This record gives sequence, C-alpha cells and structure tokens, in this order.
Amino acid sequence: MQMSADRKPQPARAGTMGLNVGDVMIGIGSFINAIINFLIVAFVLFVVIKTINSLHKKPAEPEAPAEPTTKVCPYCQSEISIKAVRCPHCTSKLEGFPEINN
Ligand SMILES: [Zn+2]
Repeated sequence: MQMSADRKPQPARAGTMGLNVGDVMIGIGSFINAIINFLIVAFVLFVVIKTINSLHKKPAEPEAPAEPTTKVCPYCQSEISIKAVRCPHCTSKLEGFPEINN
C-alpha cells in the first residue's frame, strides 16, 4: 500500500462534474442525490411522527355547562336575571320578593 503523499489527486472523470478536495473527488450528482434522499427521509419521518402524535392525542373532555345566569319569568316568559325578585318587564313579584308589612 502506498503512502498518501505519493498519490496524486485523481482528476474528475470525463463526463462527471466534481470537486477535488485533497485526494477525494466529491461528485456533484452524488451530493445532490444525498440531499434529495435526506429530504425524502426527513419528510417521511415527519409524516410518521405527526400521525403517531395525532393517534395519541386524547379527545378533549366536554366542558361542564356554565352556571345559568338567567331565568324565565313565569308570567311574561321574558328572560331575566337569576337573582331578580321582581320582573323588570312585567313587574310581577317573583320567588324571594321581600314582603313589607306595616
Ligand atoms: Zn315578567
């Protein structure tokens, strides 16, 4: 086996584009091929991991219904505040109206 100092850099073969770096010839075609292969593998891995993540995602729990803040007046069927003791629409006395007796 010869020492590397004895070897001459190999010129690019006819019909191939390449770059000589020391004793190594880097072919442009194989470099582009490696980039394309990397992009394909990266895209496939991205799709696979995204699919696995979507399978592991738990369905969102339905939120508990919010506390009601309104009620319907039994006399005029208007929507009024749940704290109202007198209907603002028909002035009917509702449950909880304080009776003042003199
Ligand atoms: Zn009413």
